[in-house]
Amino acid sequence: MAKKGEIIIEESFCKGCGLCELFCNKKSISMGKIGPGGFPIAQISDPETCNGCGTCGFMCPDMAIEVYKYVDGRSL
Ligand code: SF4
Ligand code: SF4
Repeated sequence: MAKKGEIIIEESFCKGCGLCELFCNKKSISMGKIGPGGFPIAQISDPETCNGCGTCGFMCPDMAIEVYKYVDGRSL
């Protein structure tokens, strides 16, 4: 099945607030390893489930997430 979406998390921008995990209704993101600042860094936990909805990128207060939406295998 063609991929519907993809995200890239810029770890150095993440402040560990967890909003992306909370609002991703596909459970594609989870909080991962503790970063140098002492807080967990968001990670892609299940890339196959991401549908490129953009919610995580919209919610992130630190602009740490790039979102790509694919239709018929092509990026919009
Ligand atoms: S784009 Fe949507 S589905 Fe993909 S990780 Fe972000 S909130 Fe979840
Ligand atoms: S919303 Fe942004 S700053 Fe907050 S945990 Fe997710 S990537 Fe990190």
